[in-house]
Amino acid sequence: MSLHAQPDLPVAPASETVSRPRRVEGLVTGQPTSDGAGVKLTRVLTHTLQRRLDPFLMLDAFGSDNPDDYIAGFPDHPHRGFETVTYMIAGRMLHRDSAGHEGLLQNGGVQWMTAGRGVIHSEIPQQEEGVMEGFQLWLNLPARDKLCAPWYRDFQAADLPRFVTASGVDVTVIAGASHGVAGAVTREGTQPLYLDLHLLAGSRFEQGLPSGHNAFVYVYRGAVRIQGAEVPVQRMAILENDGDADGVLIEAGAESRVLLIAGRPLNEPIAQYGPFVMNTEEELRQAVLDLHSGRLA
Ligand code: FE
Repeated sequence: MSLHAQPDLPVAPASETVSRPRRVEGLVTGQPTSDGAGVKLTRVLTHTLQRRLDPFLMLDAFGSDNPDDYIAGFPDHPHRGFETVTYMIAGRMLHRDSAGHEGLLQNGGVQWMTAGRGVIHSEIPQQEEGVMEGFQLWLNLPARDKLCAPWYRDFQAADLPRFVTASGVDVTVIAGASHGVAGAVTREGTQPLYLDLHLLAGSRFEQGLPSGHNAFVYVYRGAVRIQGAEVPVQRMAILENDGDADGVLIEAGAESRVLLIAGRPLNEPIAQYGPFVMNTEEELRQAVLDLHSGRLA
C-alpha cells in the first residue's frame, strides 16, 4: 500500500486479472470548440468516431480558470434519444429541466440524465471565479429505449462507489463494475463501464473487458503506458478490439489521472441532428416537429 493512498478508502474486494491485454489502436487529440452560449471546450470524441466507439457519441472535456470561457453555460436546449453523463472535477453547475428536476452538480459529482423521448434543460455554472473542470459523455440508447420516459439522477462525490487497489490506484466507479465493486449506474443494453482512475507513479491497473466492447482511455493528468504505447496528457487512446484480448493494463510512470470508458456496441443506425440522436432521418424530422409544437418534453 502506498503512502499516498487515501486511508479512508476501502480496499478492492476482488482483483481483476488480465492475461492478454489490449493494445492501443490509435491516439486522438481533442478539437477545441465552443458550445452552448459560448463555453470553450475540447471535443475528444467527435462525430467521426461515433461508429468506432459505439455506443458512445461524444466526449467533451471542459477546463478553464477564466470565467469568460464558461460563465454563460448552456441555456435551455433539448435532447432526445440518448443519455448524458456529466462529471465535475472542479466547480459547480446548476441543472434544471422540463420534467421539474433541479440539481447542483459539485466537485467530484456526476449527473446522469436519460433524455429518452425528450428533455429541455439548462446547465449553468454557479461560480464567478475559479477553476471549472469536467467532462460530458453522451451514451446512445438502444432503438427500443429512445422514446423512454426521461430519467435523471445526481450523485454527489460521496455517493459514488470508490476503492483503492492493492497497488494504490484510487478508483471511482461511475458505471459498470470493477474489482467486485458495482458502479453508481448500470445499463443492460449498452453495459457502460466508466471509471475515474488516480494512479500513483509506478502503479498499474488491470481491468477485464469483453473483447467485443469498444473501449478508450482519456488521460487528463500525467501520462500512462498501455502495452508499450505512451499515452500523453489530453489524449484519448482507442483500445484495439482484439478477439483474444481479455482486458486492459494501464501503467503510470508518473502520477496520473485517467478515464477508462467501455461499452457494448449497439450496431444500430445512428442519425444525429444536433441534440437529437435517433436511428433514421424521419425520426429526426419528428423530433424537430415535436420540439416546435411543444410535444418534445
Ligand atoms: Fe444538455
